[in-house]
Amino acid sequence: MTLKRVACCVCLILALESAQVEGQFVQLTGWGGGKPEEIVPQAAEIGFNEIIVWNQSPDYLAQLVEVGRKHNIGIYSSIFLSDVKGWMKRRGGIAPPLQEMDARENAALERIQADTSKGKSNYQYGGEPVQSIEVLTYPMLCFHVPAVLEFFKEQIRDVLAVPGLKGIAFDFFGYRNYQCCRCKESQAAFEEWRKQHPDLEPGKALEQFSLETLVNFTNTLADYAHSVRREARVACHVYPVFLPEPLYGNRLNVDYCGQTAAWYFDPLWSREKIRDYSRVIFGQEKKHFPKAEGVALVGVYTRPKLYPVKSPERLTLELQAILDGGGDRVQVCSLNDVLNDKDTREVFKRFFKRPRP
Ligand SMILES: [Zn+2]
Repeated sequence: MTLKRVACCVCLILALESAQVEGQFVQLTGWGGGKPEEIVPQAAEIGFNEIIVWNQSPDYLAQLVEVGRKHNIGIYSSIFLSDVKGWMKRRGGIAPPLQEMDARENAALERIQADTSKGKSNYQYGGEPVQSIEVLTYPMLCFHVPAVLEFFKEQIRDVLAVPGLKGIAFDFFGYRNYQCCRCKESQAAFEEWRKQHPDLEPGKALEQFSLETLVNFTNTLADYAHSVRREARVACHVYPVFLPEPLYGNRLNVDYCGQTAAWYFDPLWSREKIRDYSRVIFGQEKKHFPKAEGVALVGVYTRPKLYPVKSPERLTLELQAILDGGGDRVQVCSLNDVLNDKDTREVFKRFFKRPRP
């Protein structure tokens, strides 16, 4: 009797400890970059399984794949809708088709650019806005222009030619004003779309058109990547925020759909919000596509001169809230901010390092 009680207490203590710390994470993906022989072993030591880089150089990717293979880390190359430089490289003399905004949004852009205070008065850099109007400061290509789709197909085809690359990732797929594009081509496409949806009132129609075309653009490129190489994986981070439906990621036919669960800046998200978002990210991951896996994105900057750094306690709270919301996969941006800070590394090791002590 006594022995049995002791055994039960031990089991209970172990069960409680495991529930509070270990959880059920199966995947950790880092957005970042750097010298392969430096970043890959460090990332493996913490428990990362995958690295995504915003780099399409075949030589660099080949090196990264080779080092990654030794440490069991899969490598992705990311394409991104703000890649005006990449457009100029491939399209030379053709002006990049850029998204456009209205006068109010352009005034917000000027206000944000002129704000040199630390933290830019709580500007959220593409995350859910805190100021009354926020927009992205980067120019963005307009994906309603067919040439933009073709441009990204070329990039995907070239990147997937690198042997051993695990896949392709999509970043910055969204609208500069977080809702729609106001350029001539987008307006014409919208007017055409409205003929098929005459009963919708104009505001609702623009929301639905903007969501549908954004989802179609992503899914068309994901299908294309799978057609180039069937076993290639497609990952993404839903960013910048799409205000009419921030958690639209389950509509995307990608393998690993990252959606923001804990953003970077003040005001940091509450434990309840992180848990509730995780419940949607993971609980509804297969609502539209049975193979899709949800991934929670956690923002990490460890550069105190620029922004407040999340403490180990804070990061623990965020990762635990994701587990409490049913999460099993995490993306962190940036990988390098995790690698560069000892306290941050230790927190991630505790949640992700395999085998665990
Ligand atoms: Zn446009």
